[in-house]
Amino acid sequence: MAAAACAAECGVRVGLVDDNPRLGGQIWRSESSSQQESDPRIADASHWLQRMSTAGVTALCGLRVVHQPEAGVLLAENLDGLYELRYDKLVLATGARERFLPFPGWTLPNVMGAGGLQAMVKGGLPIRGKRVMVAGTGPLLLAVAAYLRKHGAEIPLICEQTSWGSLAKFGLALFRWPEKIGQTIQLKRDLSGIPFAANTWVVAANGQAALDSVDILRDGRVEMIPCDYLACGYHLVPNVELALLMGCAVDQGCVQVDDLQNTTVASVFCAGEPTSVGGVELAIIEGQIAGLAAAEHATEARALFAKRRKARRFADVLDSTFRLRPELKNLPLPETMVCRCEDVPYSRLQQHTSWRSAKLHARCGMGPCQGRVCGPATEFLFKWNPDSVRPPVFPARVGTLATGDEPLHLQHSDVMGGH
Ligand SMILES: Cc1cc2nc3c(=O)[nH]c(=O)nc-3n(C[C@H](O)[C@H](O)[C@H](O)COP(=O)(O)OP(=O)(O)OC[C@H]3O[C@@H](n4cnc5c(N)ncnc54)[C@H](O)[C@@H]3O)c2cc1C
Repeated sequence: MAAAACAAECGVRVGLVDDNPRLGGQIWRSESSSQQESDPRIADASHWLQRMSTAGVTALCGLRVVHQPEAGVLLAENLDGLYELRYDKLVLATGARERFLPFPGWTLPNVMGAGGLQAMVKGGLPIRGKRVMVAGTGPLLLAVAAYLRKHGAEIPLICEQTSWGSLAKFGLALFRWPEKIGQTIQLKRDLSGIPFAANTWVVAANGQAALDSVDILRDGRVEMIPCDYLACGYHLVPNVELALLMGCAVDQGCVQVDDLQNTTVASVFCAGEPTSVGGVELAIIEGQIAGLAAAEHATEARALFAKRRKARRFADVLDSTFRLRPELKNLPLPETMVCRCEDVPYSRLQQHTSWRSAKLHARCGMGPCQGRVCGPATEFLFKWNPDSVRPPVFPARVGTLATGDEPLHLQHSDVMGGH
């Protein structure tokens, strides 16, 4: 949204494509005007929505980009069919997703990703009166716990795998970002009374038809905690599939960009979580820079470099604070499913030495999620790297994939434009 608004304010024609039915990405998409106007997130979302609307950005929501058949052309689909979008300049801002680690019982109903459960509650899942264990690592756990509590859930415990020492360093580092101190104080208030344990993680989820309790490992001892839901995520991994498909260089899981957010592919820029997981402030600054650069207003973009430098340091601090501890590699048992789309257990993966071999011989990563879940897990467990991305980057209808299928044409005013 920041990239779209800034580019359009420079006078170029801009289209924004988002597969969610509402604008706003992971954080803002369901913040409605019925919520408190004093909530700073509503104010931030409204600010960018207003700027986009004033500058005349065409928003195409509920449309998912699945392929780039040639440079300058994207194929996208929605419930009505296939669309061809043409561009001169493209800013990729595909966000991040949660990292999941396999452990016994993680495929039971009501074991969910932390952000995943939050998204379901945003979508209407009733959570009032339910006992929700929140576990994994990263600041998202706190945001999710606060959100669920606000919607009536009981949170018996938040389990954070990182150590108290790392958290203490993180707390001290926050003084370099005064705006984050305010957010931290607010979160502390929202979470008051909820027990928090560092050095602690879930080792098993128990239940027959659905989850009824979890076993956690705290200070070397296993404890059983009854609950209705487990919200469990191990920080975030950048969504780089579309960038990879276009041929952009990716290093250590992040899209490589230069100062002006240019990727290694001409006319393709990238901003936000795909370049590094650094939170909403960094995503917005990068978006502004990318939008200005794509509209050839490099001087204005350069004025934001210092702000971005400071925000990127926060991404580095997040990375070192919430690094996964090696003990988590011992979580899966031989029979624990690692690739849940294709039912591939841990023991079958142990027979392989690379992602490619596991894919070819055990079908790991070949199911509907195309390795989005098991890819980051096997990267942590075995140090494997997914070596290629093939179209479509998301599951798509056969009609979309069939060659010669005529794409639907959007109205002139709806067609995505660069300059
Ligand atoms: C599940 C989850 C929950 C989160 N909850 C919080 C929270 O409560 N508070 C908080 O401070 N931070 C939260 N974060 C972190 C937060 O999302 C980021 O800091 C911030 O949103 C980054 O902005 P972005 O523009 O890079 O990505 P996003 O806001 O994620 O925006 C990326 C958008 O691109 C869309 N997209 C991706 N691929 C395609 C495609 N092929 N075609 C069309 N559209 C596509 C996505 O659907 C999404 O709407 C959450 C992250 C995740 C993954």
